[in-house]
Amino acid sequence: MARPPKCRRVERLPIVTYFKPQGIPMTQLSEVNLTVEELEAVRLCDLEGLEHEVCAEKMAVSRPTFHRMIVAARKKIAEALINGLAIRVEGGNYQVKLSNLTCKKCGHKWQGTFCRRHTKCPFCQSTDWEEC
Ligand SMILES: [Zn+2]
Repeated sequence: MARPPKCRRVERLPIVTYFKPQGIPMTQLSEVNLTVEELEAVRLCDLEGLEHEVCAEKMAVSRPTFHRMIVAARKKIAEALINGLAIRVEGGNYQVKLSNLTCKKCGHKWQGTFCRRHTKCPFCQSTDWEEC
Protein backbone atom coordinates (compact mmCIF):
# COMPACT_ATOMS: atom_id res chain seq x y z
CA MET A 1 0.00 0.00 0.00
CA ALA A 2 1.32 3.44 -0.90
CA ARG A 3 1.99 5.74 1.99
CA PRO A 4 0.43 9.18 1.78
CA PRO A 5 3.09 11.77 0.91
CA LYS A 6 4.43 13.55 3.94
CA CYS A 7 4.35 17.32 4.15
CA ARG A 8 7.69 19.06 4.18
CA ARG A 9 7.97 21.99 6.51
CA VAL A 10 8.81 25.35 4.96
CA GLU A 11 9.72 28.43 7.03
CA ARG A 12 9.87 31.04 4.29
CA LEU A 13 7.64 31.38 1.30
CA PRO A 14 9.44 32.61 -1.82
CA ILE A 15 9.36 36.37 -2.50
CA VAL A 16 9.61 35.91 -6.25
CA THR A 17 8.03 32.92 -7.97
CA TYR A 18 9.09 33.47 -11.56
CA PHE A 19 12.53 34.17 -13.01
CA LYS A 20 12.86 34.93 -16.69
CA PRO A 21 15.99 35.35 -18.81
CA GLN A 22 16.23 38.76 -20.45
CA GLY A 23 15.71 39.07 -24.19
CA ILE A 24 13.88 35.83 -24.85
CA PRO A 25 10.19 36.18 -25.73
CA MET A 26 7.83 34.19 -23.52
CA THR A 27 6.60 32.20 -26.54
CA GLN A 28 10.09 30.81 -27.15
CA LEU A 29 10.88 30.24 -23.54
CA SER A 30 11.06 26.88 -21.81
CA GLU A 31 10.86 26.69 -18.06
CA VAL A 32 11.80 24.47 -15.18
CA ASN A 33 9.50 24.02 -12.23
CA LEU A 34 11.08 24.29 -8.83
CA THR A 35 8.80 23.28 -5.97
CA VAL A 36 8.48 25.52 -2.93
CA GLU A 37 10.21 22.92 -0.74
CA GLU A 38 13.09 22.54 -3.21
CA LEU A 39 13.70 26.29 -3.01
CA GLU A 40 13.51 26.07 0.79
CA ALA A 41 16.16 23.34 0.69
CA VAL A 42 18.45 25.64 -1.33
CA ARG A 43 17.76 28.51 1.06
CA LEU A 44 18.61 26.51 4.17
CA CYS A 45 21.61 24.68 2.76
CA ASP A 46 23.21 27.07 0.29
CA LEU A 47 22.14 30.48 1.56
CA GLU A 48 22.14 29.91 5.30
CA GLY A 49 24.90 27.31 5.08
CA LEU A 50 23.29 24.80 7.42
CA GLU A 51 24.34 21.15 7.57
CA HIS A 52 22.13 18.66 5.72
CA GLU A 53 21.16 17.10 9.01
CA VAL A 54 19.93 20.42 10.42
CA CYS A 55 18.09 21.23 7.19
CA ALA A 56 16.42 17.83 7.16
CA GLU A 57 15.26 18.30 10.72
CA LYS A 58 13.92 21.78 10.01
CA MET A 59 11.98 20.49 7.03
CA ALA A 60 10.77 17.36 8.85
CA VAL A 61 12.27 14.94 6.33
CA SER A 62 14.94 12.25 6.50
CA ARG A 63 18.51 13.07 5.51
CA PRO A 64 18.36 11.00 2.29
CA THR A 65 15.13 12.76 1.34
CA PHE A 66 16.72 16.13 1.97
CA HIS A 67 19.72 15.11 -0.09
CA ARG A 68 17.51 14.09 -3.00
CA MET A 69 15.64 17.40 -2.80
CA ILE A 70 18.74 19.59 -2.80
CA VAL A 71 20.32 17.64 -5.67
CA ALA A 72 17.13 17.95 -7.74
CA ALA A 73 16.84 21.67 -6.94
CA ARG A 74 20.46 22.46 -7.86
CA LYS A 75 20.16 20.51 -11.08
CA LYS A 76 17.06 22.49 -12.14
CA ILE A 77 18.70 25.82 -11.27
CA ALA A 78 21.88 24.85 -13.15
CA GLU A 79 19.83 23.77 -16.15
CA ALA A 80 18.00 27.10 -16.17
CA LEU A 81 21.19 29.17 -15.86
CA ILE A 82 23.19 27.23 -18.43
CA ASN A 83 20.46 26.64 -21.00
CA GLY A 84 18.59 29.92 -20.54
CA LEU A 85 15.33 28.59 -19.16
CA ALA A 86 12.86 30.41 -16.97
CA ILE A 87 12.32 29.18 -13.42
CA ARG A 88 8.82 28.84 -12.05
CA VAL A 89 8.54 28.28 -8.30
CA GLU A 90 5.29 26.52 -7.74
CA GLY A 91 3.61 23.62 -6.07
CA GLY A 92 5.05 20.80 -4.07
CA ASN A 93 3.91 19.19 -0.91
CA TYR A 94 4.59 21.43 2.03
CA GLN A 95 3.26 23.08 5.11
CA VAL A 96 4.24 26.60 6.03
CA LYS A 97 5.52 27.06 9.53
CA LEU A 98 3.87 29.87 11.47
CA SER A 99 6.24 32.50 12.86
CA ASN A 100 5.76 34.96 15.70
CA LEU A 101 5.50 38.32 14.01
CA THR A 102 5.37 41.86 15.37
CA CYS A 103 4.10 44.87 13.47
CA LYS A 104 6.66 47.69 13.55
CA LYS A 105 3.97 50.27 12.94
CA CYS A 106 1.32 49.45 15.54
CA GLY A 107 3.08 46.86 17.71
CA HIS A 108 0.44 44.18 17.10
CA LYS A 109 1.77 40.63 17.64
CA TRP A 110 0.43 37.64 15.77
CA GLN A 111 1.32 34.26 14.32
CA GLY A 112 1.57 34.16 10.57
CA THR A 113 3.56 32.96 7.60
CA PHE A 114 6.87 34.65 6.90
CA CYS A 115 6.18 35.98 3.43
CA ARG A 116 7.70 39.36 2.52
CA ARG A 117 5.25 39.77 -0.30
CA HIS A 118 1.91 38.75 1.11
CA THR A 119 1.95 38.94 4.89
CA LYS A 120 0.35 42.06 6.36
CA CYS A 121 -0.42 43.10 9.91
CA PRO A 122 -3.97 41.86 10.53
CA PHE A 123 -4.60 44.98 12.61
CA CYS A 124 -3.33 47.90 10.50
CA GLN A 125 -2.46 46.14 7.19
CA SER A 126 1.16 47.33 7.41
CA THR A 127 3.79 45.27 5.59
CA ASP A 128 6.49 46.54 7.94
CA TRP A 129 6.81 43.69 10.44
CA GLU A 130 9.55 41.56 11.93
CA GLU A 131 9.98 38.11 13.36
CA CYS A 132 10.46 37.96 17.10
ZN1 LIG B 1 0.05 46.85 12.58
